[in-house]
Amino acid sequence: MVDGQRRGKQEAEMNGNVILEEILIKRSQQKKKTSPLNYKERLFVLTASLLTYYEGRAEKRHRKGFIDVSKIRCVETVKSDDGAPPCQNQFAFQVVHDANTLYVFAPSAQSRDRWVKNLKEEIKHNSNIMVKYHPKFWAEGVYQCCRQTEKLAPGCEKYNLFESSIKKTLPPAPQKHQRRPPPPLPPEDEGGGEEVVIAMFDFQATEAHDLRLERGQEYIVLEKSDVHWWRARDKFGSEGYIPSNYVTGKKPNNLEQYQWYCRNMNRSKAEQLLKKEDKEGGFIVRDSSQPGLYTVSLYTKFGGEGSSGFRHYHIKETATTPKRYYLAEKHSFPSIPEIIEYHKHNAAGLVTRLRYPVSIKGRHAPTTAGFSYEKWEINPSELTFMRELGSGLFGVVRLGKWRAQYKVAIKAIREGAMCEEDFIEEAKVMMKLTHPKLVQLYGVCTQQKPIYIVTEFMEHGCLLNYLRQRHGRSSRDTLLSMCQDVCQGMDYLERSSFIHRDLAARNCLVNDSGVVKVSDFGMARYVLDDQYTSSSGAKFPVKWCPPEVFNYSRFSSKSDVWSFGVLMWEIFTEGRMPFEKNTNYEVVNMVSHGHRLARPPLASSVVYQVMLRCWHEKPEGRPSFEDLLHTIDQLVECDEAF
Ligand code: ADP
Repeated sequence: MVDGQRRGKQEAEMNGNVILEEILIKRSQQKKKTSPLNYKERLFVLTASLLTYYEGRAEKRHRKGFIDVSKIRCVETVKSDDGAPPCQNQFAFQVVHDANTLYVFAPSAQSRDRWVKNLKEEIKHNSNIMVKYHPKFWAEGVYQCCRQTEKLAPGCEKYNLFESSIKKTLPPAPQKHQRRPPPPLPPEDEGGGEEVVIAMFDFQATEAHDLRLERGQEYIVLEKSDVHWWRARDKFGSEGYIPSNYVTGKKPNNLEQYQWYCRNMNRSKAEQLLKKEDKEGGFIVRDSSQPGLYTVSLYTKFGGEGSSGFRHYHIKETATTPKRYYLAEKHSFPSIPEIIEYHKHNAAGLVTRLRYPVSIKGRHAPTTAGFSYEKWEINPSELTFMRELGSGLFGVVRLGKWRAQYKVAIKAIREGAMCEEDFIEEAKVMMKLTHPKLVQLYGVCTQQKPIYIVTEFMEHGCLLNYLRQRHGRSSRDTLLSMCQDVCQGMDYLERSSFIHRDLAARNCLVNDSGVVKVSDFGMARYVLDDQYTSSSGAKFPVKWCPPEVFNYSRFSSKSDVWSFGVLMWEIFTEGRMPFEKNTNYEVVNMVSHGHRLARPPLASSVVYQVMLRCWHEKPEGRPSFEDLLHTIDQLVECDEAF
């Protein structure tokens, strides 16, 4: 993080409302294998955006570190059943963020539970919440719960953000006469504790227990025991399950509720969208490549000679307290929606007024985790089969429809191709992996042979063929944007502690908007063909594997990072075969001796540097997907990438 950003964060923390503040004991995070394990007293301060810890107390404090609340993936108490606690504070909780876990020890169960409750409240809208976590400590190179020895090993117990394990560990409630006044808590959500959300997309209820959503309408959330399907009530009093990713919190500063806001949109996609719409003054507001900032992308047909017609304006912040926001310095406002409203009527320095909000909401509703709450078995009689899309290791894939309405891809698993029992068990977990850059698993039909796997349909099929068919026609911007799509999907998998194991262009698919999504994640574990699973087998994807995989079958998110580097190479060569003149055996030798794929002519040296970072000999020397995404986001935003 650069100094300016750091200062900005510090200011934010100082200006932000403090939710909790207490001296706790922090265990060192041992981000490097060699860093020592120690326990230190720190002043912890929680605001809505940061969890910061300081050395010293009150005024003489010195900041030692912080965690972005938006990066937190899990907060939970730590179960510990053996031996004396390692420090004087006995009550531990964990904060999992990025690829690290922070263990913190509180002086009492009440203090710990207060931290866990408040942190959970702050992270409830994070998109990166873990599906499974480790209930016990990582100590001496193993997880005490499941004995796994990889720090990034997938969690072993289902994580439930909304149902606290605190209940199980809280001491019995004190008798009435002993009860002390409760500690001060932050104010509850407006509306007397009821959480009101707004639908961003329409949702048609598919089962009787679902609730229909209408875009723009308000709903009251009643229960969140499943991360993906919440129970809610509409204004008519009807209740049922809704997909949680279709609604957003009704808070004045939450931009998701506005049609003009597109969170996951980069510069080149924004331009494509504005161009397609081709409306004078068409605009969208999107996240800038600089964290915490926003950009307005605006389109004009009369932009002057030689002008592309696109303008990208950063929304700037004043240094005052409270902050104000502006596009034109003379016209600052307390919030972003107010700026947008102002510039809808006044160009005030912009190339044109913000005349027409361009939106993808409503047109492309996101996928849901399955078709309905707790529904992973699909009735095959509700499927109709259409044309064949292709065939792979597991069998033939066909286009089909579910309930005559939703287009889906249906994979019929060939007898003897898959370890079906294990897959069916895992499918329940895989269905919960939901991200705009992952091909969604909708469900399975397991009551018959062959079994079917039903997934999101991707109009343009596999990325490898797509690249080859469009050879010479894709701009470098488009190629980089494809890498960004995959990196976003992989960043989500890494944050969910899920290892792909076979990332390559052949395992990514492209939809009708040209969005690339990661497919077949984790499926390599269920292949029964030895030629594919054994590293010496003829079908083993050696050319996509790092040394620790072809030597010792050690898969991790960092081995996925290596494969991602090769996938970037495939994208920038528009679908060439890596090491095309060499056999697998030769590639093992070459890579072991430090040989790497050469720079594709379409890749600039900056882009090639990203690939080379993925191919660091040692897993710990490679960047995480989060780091990669940060770099790629910046390349996408800046014209100098090429
Ligand atoms: P396998 O996992 O059995 O190896 P694949 O997933 O590679 O099979 O699918 C084989 C081919 O079928 C792909 O190359 C692609 O062309 C097509 N296909 C697979 N899934 C989809 C989908 N969801 N949408 C569109 N086409 C698909």
